[in-house]
Amino acid sequence: MSDRDARITRRGLLKAGGLATLGAALGVSRIAAAAPAPAPPVADRKVPRRRLGRAGIDLPVLGLGLPFDVSTYQLFLKQALKWGVDLWLTGYDYDGGNAQRGIGRYFARFPADRDRVFLATNYARGPGDLQASLDEATRESLRRMATDRLDLLLYSVGDDEAEPPAGLVPWAERARREGRVRHVGLAAHHHMDRYLAWSAAHPGIDVVLCCFNYRLARDRVLVEALAAAEKAGVGVLAMKTRALGPSPEGGQADQDLQEHFARKGETVDQARLRAVWANPSVRSAVVTLASIEALGAMVQATGEPPGLSLEDARALAMHDERTRGGFCAGCTHHCQGAVDGCVPIGDVLRHLMYGNAYGERDRAARWFAALPGTVRAALSGTDFSAAEACCPRGVPIARLMREAASRWC
Ligand code: SF4
Repeated sequence: MSDRDARITRRGLLKAGGLATLGAALGVSRIAAAAPAPAPPVADRKVPRRRLGRAGIDLPVLGLGLPFDVSTYQLFLKQALKWGVDLWLTGYDYDGGNAQRGIGRYFARFPADRDRVFLATNYARGPGDLQASLDEATRESLRRMATDRLDLLLYSVGDDEAEPPAGLVPWAERARREGRVRHVGLAAHHHMDRYLAWSAAHPGIDVVLCCFNYRLARDRVLVEALAAAEKAGVGVLAMKTRALGPSPEGGQADQDLQEHFARKGETVDQARLRAVWANPSVRSAVVTLASIEALGAMVQATGEPPGLSLEDARALAMHDERTRGGFCAGCTHHCQGAVDGCVPIGDVLRHLMYGNAYGERDRAARWFAALPGTVRAALSGTDFSAAEACCPRGVPIARLMREAASRWC
């Protein structure tokens, strides 16, 4: 056992106090005295729902991320609705727009299902005027998805934006008045605590979609920001719930985790989701799934009560300790300044993650191909030792930047 492992031994945890204290140390707000009761057979289930802050809407705790063309997934979407998985999240640019077009083909075929779905879409700002680009993206999204309104538009905050643009709230008010958009929120991969606080202070912003998983659940600043945002009425949705990183290197730690949960008849992915739901500030976990079997397994994981057992929380926390360097937490305020901003380290690591861990190689290749030549040259020609020294998770930044340069550029 390494020194890091020793930090979370059972004796150390028990010395720390009662279950609530243990939960905080392990990154979960709800520690169950025992493992959750087995869920009923999946065919009979409807996933539980939680209220989405000041938006006042009850959403399923499990949402579907749809970054691909779902034209040939119509049975899958039908089954999702049967299980009550009616939060669907796609993106304006996903699969070159085909993700939205596929949803449009589904609604064209099953128009009555439109009212059963809470339809959300991401939008990453392009160059030019904010109001005009949001108007155009909304109009085009409505057209592609064969609908007259978006239930949620998420403005994806770029890592180079110190805070969301000032024009976003007035645009949200106008779009709501015009009936094109019911709710507006932020999507954030970096600086999540900052954007949660910003949204809490801006009543026109109802929702924040942020990365959250069993690793980030151990970040006290983020957990406190989630709780404060929820208290202010912001609805929090979680993404990146599997906590995958830019390089698959879990080795024996991954195997130990699989064996721990296999002994209980559970998969690691199911346990990871339960760890997200163990934080009551999170209203829904949005997960990308592409088969009825995979969706059914996650539906099965929504059994009550929503907490983790102490031993499961400890197994996940131990895994995080043993694989810390394999996950980037998006805290680019630590590393970015060390290279004078000449390489967007957090973005490069995120796209490496899409390419390596999620198998989305085309998406990663497109993103790297769009990088300016100066950034691509800097990927292999920059000294990243100062950035590595600043990284609280020990991510091997230099090696990963070189990998990105040789594989994708
Ligand atoms: S400091 Fe480390 S964990 Fe944080 S964004 Fe940079 S590489 Fe990722």
